[in-house]
Amino acid sequence: MPTTLHLPLASPAPGTERHLTLHRFGKAGARPKAYFQAALHADELPGVLVLQHLIAALATAEREGRVTGEILIVPAANPIGLSQTVHGQLLGRYGLDASGNFNRGFPDLSDKLVEALRNRLGRDAAANAALVRTTLLGLLAEKKALGEAQQLRLTLMRLAIDADIALDLHCDDEAQMHIYAGPKLWPEISDLAALLGAAAVLLEEDSGGEPFDEALARPWWRLIDANQGAVLSAASMITGTLELRGRADIDDAQAQKDAQALLKFLIRRGVVAGDAGALPPLACAGTALDAVDFVKAPHAGLLVQKRSLGERVRTGDVVAEIFDPIAAPGTARTQLLARTDGVVFARSVPCLVRAGDRVMKIAGKEKLEQTDATLLGD
Ligand SMILES: [Zn+2]
Repeated sequence: MPTTLHLPLASPAPGTERHLTLHRFGKAGARPKAYFQAALHADELPGVLVLQHLIAALATAEREGRVTGEILIVPAANPIGLSQTVHGQLLGRYGLDASGNFNRGFPDLSDKLVEALRNRLGRDAAANAALVRTTLLGLLAEKKALGEAQQLRLTLMRLAIDADIALDLHCDDEAQMHIYAGPKLWPEISDLAALLGAAAVLLEEDSGGEPFDEALARPWWRLIDANQGAVLSAASMITGTLELRGRADIDDAQAQKDAQALLKFLIRRGVVAGDAGALPPLACAGTALDAVDFVKAPHAGLLVQKRSLGERVRTGDVVAEIFDPIAAPGTARTQLLARTDGVVFARSVPCLVRAGDRVMKIAGKEKLEQTDATLLGD
């Protein structure tokens, strides 16, 4: 069985204290190191079930002596968000104390890493990677958290910053399986996409707002750009945000399959010994994130979806409609049109929307004009 640790968070108010629970498989310090967390957005829970199945599979692998690296699992990465039930609704994306989106605001260590390692990298790839990891751990140790949410961010980052693989499990509103990752990691992670049956892989170096996966990987990417002559590989830090379909897709059979896919990925990367079997065919190519059509509501009203998940659409197709319930009888609905040829991979549940709300995501091929402040949105 794994070693289980409870990491306390700063008390937000007298008489109240929360903690993070962490499971470790394999020996501390063994390589490669893999890190998984779920429910950083605390109301996105399919990943929690996937990690429960992965924990069971790893416990078996450990009993059989097959865990060769180190694996850390944080099955519920946001105890603050998990406690935010308001009038019967779990609201886990933003801190109710105004601390912001829980998957934004992770510290960007890029500049300091590039500065710290100027003229210090050599020709030995393994030595370079080890130096980057210890430097990043040192830079992170200098960061001081003020408040519970910021301490949560720093604690999660400290657990993952020196990993070889760090995957953050989220979900969308209604969606097919898809992945957010950096362009430097494609096609490196195409096997992960194939194993999970991803319908889209969205590639972007800086989606905005500093989400967890980019905060882990960007220091590597910047260092690679700044040291073209040195031996460095983006594959030294494989990160990604796995969007495990929709909020309501909490299903044991599917979660079991996803956990097996993650286990096979760990086997393929040498973290667990065993036979990963044949790789299934890849269901999609990598797509630049700015080629995604984020279909937005132009005004408030009731949203009526017109296209299903996985459906191929063409530019100009009507993909959804909105109507104002108190407009004059006979007033035409507003039609929302696709701006690209592509596949509908995510959409919001039909509901009352406000102007500017994202109601559908279509993975296209051509770069589109984007009007939001950041590609990920808020
Ligand atoms: Zn999320």
